[in-house]
Amino acid sequence: MSWRSELLSWLKELTSIPGPSGREDQVREVVTRLIKPNVDKLWVDTLGNLVGLKRGSTGEGRLMIAAHMDEIGLFVSHIEDDGYLRVLPIGGLPERALIYQRVVLRTRDGRLVRGVIGLKPPHVAKPEELQKVPEMRELFVDIGASSREEVEKAGVRVGDVLVFDREIAEMLGDRVTGKAFDDRVGLVAMIKAAQMIASPKVDVYFVATVQEEVGLKGARTSAFAISPDAAIAIDVTIASDVPGVSKAEWYTRLGKGPAIKIADGRGATGLIAHPKIVEALINVAEKYKVPYQLEVAAGGTTDASIIALNEEGVPAGTVSVPTRYIHSPVEVLDLNDVYNTALLVEYFAEEVTPEWLREVKGRVIK
Ligand SMILES: [Zn+2]
Repeated sequence: MSWRSELLSWLKELTSIPGPSGREDQVREVVTRLIKPNVDKLWVDTLGNLVGLKRGSTGEGRLMIAAHMDEIGLFVSHIEDDGYLRVLPIGGLPERALIYQRVVLRTRDGRLVRGVIGLKPPHVAKPEELQKVPEMRELFVDIGASSREEVEKAGVRVGDVLVFDREIAEMLGDRVTGKAFDDRVGLVAMIKAAQMIASPKVDVYFVATVQEEVGLKGARTSAFAISPDAAIAIDVTIASDVPGVSKAEWYTRLGKGPAIKIADGRGATGLIAHPKIVEALINVAEKYKVPYQLEVAAGGTTDASIIALNEEGVPAGTVSVPTRYIHSPVEVLDLNDVYNTALLVEYFAEEVTPEWLREVKGRVIK
């Protein structure tokens, strides 16, 4: 199978599954099946992170590679007497991405319930209401029920979760559109890297993390358990190469290769990637002719920012797949960027030696 059809089929399968923060179980099952042949040990921890270990030839040094399984979604917070559902967001879900969208809910007994996010008809709305995006508390989900009893009979209860109901679609060239590319595409790149890494010198821990979208929680606990000497997160990043954005704000562009992060977020919540990790990623990209872009992002962050603060600190960086319209049901990416992300991570992991890890971690001065 060509890398293109392999990556596309994994992305298709992984994005077809609902897995908002805290409900990653189905995603974990698929990642388990796909990564299992290429790791020596595989386990699930208390919070639900999936950890795969590929042993290094020297028996020394630990490199952690993380990609998150969860996606943004909605909690059912209230059921109306007339059958409508009220919702609250899981992760950063802008209201304007929700209007008139189809959503899907998986009940406790595994039934799929489909719905739409409706809105007051424009004909009865005041002119000023038509000008603004409604607030979360004004939104409702219509699952076709006429009463609370019908909702309950369908197996839906408060606390159930909804995600966008959207299938992946191929566009022109190697571009695809769909939901939850953030961060199922990171998982795809990580699984591909695990398959390609032949004989690493250090132990490589592949971690499919939980609850990234609600505060990098799985990365925190898994880093504590692994105690890595260095770490890389694989995630999506903002491709703002669209009309209406000045070129000075085109942080990354589609099809120009993985983004090597210099910095993201703002102050306390972001990451300033460790300079030695950045340097090593650039060297590897140049050596093996993998296209790449350097990125200073205006916002957002990844698992790397919390792994960097584990114990006495971990040299950490991020490799990202440029993606347009992040946290919407119509995210767009280029499959070449996905493959090149996997290649960059593969080459980096193969180059890491125990000596280099010791050197990066710090030194005695006197
Ligand atoms: Zn993400």
